[in-house]
Amino acid sequence: MEGRYSRVEEEDLRFLREVVGPENVSTKGWELAVSSANAVSEIEGRAEAVVWPSSAEQVSKILAHCSERRIPVTPRGSGSSTSGNAAPVEGGIVINTRRMNRVLEVSREDLLAVVEPGVIYEELNVELRRLGLFFPPEPASGSVSTIGGMVGNNSSGFRAVKYGVTRDYIVGLEVVLPSGEVVRLGTRAPKSSIGYDLVRLFVGSEGTLGFFTKITLKLRPLPEARRTGICYAESAERASRAIFDVVASPARPSAVEYMDSRVLRLLVESGYPYREAGAALLLETDGTERAAEDEISRLESICRSHGNDFRRVEGGEEEALWKGRRSLGALVAKLSPAVIVGDVDVPVSKLPWMVEEIYRLGDEMKVGLVVFGHAGDGNLHVNILAGGTDEPSRRRAWDLYAKIMERTIEAGGAIAGEHGIGVEKREFMEAQHGRLALDLMRRVKEAVDPSWIMNPGKILPGPS
Ligand SMILES: Cc1cc2nc3c(=O)[nH]c(=O)nc-3n(C[C@H](O)[C@H](O)[C@H](O)COP(=O)(O)OP(=O)(O)OC[C@H]3O[C@@H](n4cnc5c(N)ncnc54)[C@H](O)[C@@H]3O)c2cc1C
Repeated sequence: MEGRYSRVEEEDLRFLREVVGPENVSTKGWELAVSSANAVSEIEGRAEAVVWPSSAEQVSKILAHCSERRIPVTPRGSGSSTSGNAAPVEGGIVINTRRMNRVLEVSREDLLAVVEPGVIYEELNVELRRLGLFFPPEPASGSVSTIGGMVGNNSSGFRAVKYGVTRDYIVGLEVVLPSGEVVRLGTRAPKSSIGYDLVRLFVGSEGTLGFFTKITLKLRPLPEARRTGICYAESAERASRAIFDVVASPARPSAVEYMDSRVLRLLVESGYPYREAGAALLLETDGTERAAEDEISRLESICRSHGNDFRRVEGGEEEALWKGRRSLGALVAKLSPAVIVGDVDVPVSKLPWMVEEIYRLGDEMKVGLVVFGHAGDGNLHVNILAGGTDEPSRRRAWDLYAKIMERTIEAGGAIAGEHGIGVEKREFMEAQHGRLALDLMRRVKEAVDPSWIMNPGKILPGPS
């Protein structure tokens, strides 16, 4: 791919300044560094310029120019992706959505919101809460995640078990294509049967097909009540048996979080009000007062029927348990100078086997790791403690990562449940999808972005 792309020249910068105003283009070292890094991931980009447009029209001019000049373009929200998804690995320009941050419409009647891509997840929900509504697919990083980034990665979180993922909520998109054309996809209708679903194609495309400038989201009424319970099991196996029954129960929990003994110890040592056990499930129900109460009672019966201890929690303790769960990523990061974050998703029936297999591989390869996750939907966050930054430790850690990807695919799972492919998982795409399906994806990419300027180096290996 060497020589495929042009570098950003003074003439390009002049053009960008004309389009967005000189104060909205930067080539300052620190701004390029901030726009090139990715959270957690070791993948670093090397942006040559950062641009902050404020409208689809400006984005359209920029993309048309970059296509003609073959300058790589990386769309970017907060850059909190964990696999290098928003790192400009081929250089070029980063288009940051910070100035495209308006909530354009909220319709209580239609249960829809129309937003610009730079709106922050939590800020949107603060606004929606006043109307008794919410946008459910909450990532743990919701205080920084932009809606554009969530759509780019098809993000989700611990409530996906009941409410689904970002893709389930996107009904319309305005997208600037690499050519500069602006296409409007989808409808405002609650359901549709109108041919190829291009909205779903763009959701999860990680900025490789076009730039979202408007996003139409489905909303849900806020639940009236929530209930939390903690289930402690003697062994991972007993916890797993409870998970199967919980998931198959009509109670429909809004969260089923799995923590094994190592994770529980870490939480206890960090001062959170958990206790040590073989494994634990943090369970939540929501809905009307009556439904939330009735459902948590059913979950309690299920947990107890497998010989597990179950306790309802509320108030400060409930808050502290959830805070501990949300802090796990940060707590794990303190255990090792380098952590590789995996995010595999397997059929729920394979969950106990997968957890055991991951730890077995870690022991065999002498690499420490910590596993926790959204058990209700088979999603495991595998945190590989890469040990040192020296080459042999790093290599062992990445070898383990590759083995975990292999096992996930063998189990019929997905190598990424919610964090996307980025750069780190690209090499596993053929094993995941097969050669023919991957080739089909490549043909879609070629059709939409023939110059491969949109976020090159992500999802697919480069053009053949
Ligand atoms: C501590 C921590 C916890 C996390 N927890 C979760 C979690 O629970 N669930 C989860 O799903 N993820 C999680 N993540 C990953 C990440 O935070 C989410 O994927 C988040 O939604 C990304 O938002 P962002 O604004 O940072 O997007 P970015 O990282 O900036 O971008 C994400 C992708 O979308 C593309 N993109 C951004 N804007 C646009 C646009 N306007 N048009 C086209 N493409 C665009 C980018 O090119 C990139 O490929 C976590 C990350 C961290 C660091």
